[in-house]
Amino acid sequence: MTEHPPSLATPYRTHTCGQLRAGDIGAEVRLSGWVHRRRDHGQLIFLDLRDRHGITQVVVDGTDSPAAHDVASRVRSEFVVSVSGTVTARLAGTENARLSTGAIELQTTALEILNEARTPPFYINDPDAPVDESLRLKYRYLDIRREPMQQRLLLRSRLVQAIRQAHHENGFVEIETPTLIKSTPEGARDFIVPSRLQPGSVYALPQSPQQLKQILMVGGVDRYFQIARCYRDEDLRGDRQPEFTQLDLEMSFVDEATVMDFVERMAIEVSQAVTPERPLLEVPFPRFTYGEVMERFGSDKPDLRFGMELVDLAPEIPTPDGVPASGFRVFDDALAGGGRVKAIVAPGLGDAPRSRIDELTETAKRFGARGLAHLALEATGSVKGPIVKFLGDDLAERLCARAGAGPGDLVLIVADGTEVTNEVLGRLRTDLGARLGLADPNVLAYCWVHRFPMYKWDVEGGRWDATHNPFSGVVPEDEALLTTVSGDPSRPSPEDPAGRARALQYDLALNGWELGGGSIRIWRRDLLELSFALQGYSLERMRNMFGAMLEAFEYGAPPHGGIALGIDRWAALLTNQATIREVMAFPKTQSGTDLMLEAPSPPDAGQYADLGLRVVPVEERKA
Ligand code: ASP
Repeated sequence: MTEHPPSLATPYRTHTCGQLRAGDIGAEVRLSGWVHRRRDHGQLIFLDLRDRHGITQVVVDGTDSPAAHDVASRVRSEFVVSVSGTVTARLAGTENARLSTGAIELQTTALEILNEARTPPFYINDPDAPVDESLRLKYRYLDIRREPMQQRLLLRSRLVQAIRQAHHENGFVEIETPTLIKSTPEGARDFIVPSRLQPGSVYALPQSPQQLKQILMVGGVDRYFQIARCYRDEDLRGDRQPEFTQLDLEMSFVDEATVMDFVERMAIEVSQAVTPERPLLEVPFPRFTYGEVMERFGSDKPDLRFGMELVDLAPEIPTPDGVPASGFRVFDDALAGGGRVKAIVAPGLGDAPRSRIDELTETAKRFGARGLAHLALEATGSVKGPIVKFLGDDLAERLCARAGAGPGDLVLIVADGTEVTNEVLGRLRTDLGARLGLADPNVLAYCWVHRFPMYKWDVEGGRWDATHNPFSGVVPEDEALLTTVSGDPSRPSPEDPAGRARALQYDLALNGWELGGGSIRIWRRDLLELSFALQGYSLERMRNMFGAMLEAFEYGAPPHGGIALGIDRWAALLTNQATIREVMAFPKTQSGTDLMLEAPSPPDAGQYADLGLRVVPVEERKA
């Protein structure tokens, strides 16, 4: 995977450790790097010399070069050395096909130790050696010397390069927005930076460049992008970090399809440039409405690499006189109450033991279900399970057939309100998909989800909350729905038609992860004021929060929209990693600590004084 520029020669080397081939035999060269491995055979000492580009075998012969041999006998793993010598063919039978330089070796004439090294706390030369993650983070520079981290950081660099190229080819301007700004909320807490020159005031680090990129559209930039660092102070999970990197972009005079089409073409180009060996499941990317994706997959970021879709069982359940009568109370009550009875099929789990079913039921309960019913289809085709006695054989068989189960499969059924049913089955689907290894790890399955609800009712606040950002536009056909039962937008209620309005918002998902999302923004002032009022904000209040942007909107804002995609997530998915820490050079731990730098740490006393700050001890704060 080394792409070798024509020359990386420096005063310390004529070639890199990954460069020499049979064609170089006879050449006098100089290499520098780390000692990957040392094998002492008395008169002959072998050094595997390593740099980022590869490994070259170095032979030090005590008879020919006693001085070099003397140095080689003092060399240890991870010493930094420089070797001069002649490129020679390896003896027949000792070539190493796994090394790009495996046809040759270097006969040493001179060897110099450039720097010694302490014994590393873990093996650098064994990529598979299990190493505790906190040790890797504390000695990240040693971890980065190891092959797997090198490969991932290289891939990430190529990813960003491909992204930049695709944007430049499509008329985008790369602009850096500042990171000492005013609060730009994206649903998390701000990190704040106290100002020394204006004691008592703070900057906020951007949760995203959202306001600034919209202002750039008012500035006539037309198409902006940035590889942007964002900061969100929230509790960390596996795929979160307090600071992370987004591909952030915004476009003017566009509609939803223009943005989605560009992003899709860019994502295809980038994927093919970075991981040409990984097939794309479906092109063009499937586009689901939020309603459809929840109904079919129970998730707004479905993993499409396997089926196991949610199936509605209700059509098989008889309803004499309009009353559901499956014979099983839980199903009938759910349907009578306007809820759902839906199922997924776990392939090959038909003969799962009781303990496995109990475990699945526990998982479903953790996901919010009251219970989990099941029907097992035996190899003979007969249906078994505790609820068969209520349903009767005939209905039980028809439910299995409707679910799409075959002999040996297990049908898992949830009966509850629509939201709970979809959510629980969706999470079970994800869980089982991973456990049963149903997804092909090589495939890249991108899909779009759009037409999200514009608002979600906030019970406590008694108002409509924007599901994405407060500036997301409304689907044109739904504009008329932005009304309230009371007739006054500042007196909203959960029955308002506004609750049915759909946003011009789109998310891009990849292999079950949300890669990112964006929207066409509200750029018309009347709509903006109406939407703010529904969200319980006066224009005054919004002005306090988003003053600069709202003022800019008064000077001619073009129709515009954009998106942001997580670069860390993208790189993690392209390298099949379970956490974004694996594709970040210097990530933080779950508690937000940099174990290598030992950050955060208390400031110097003087720094507090400069800022006019004083720390209140936790006990005092509680009091
Ligand atoms: N600012 C949004 C985010 O960070 C993305 C966007 O709407 O463009 O999620």
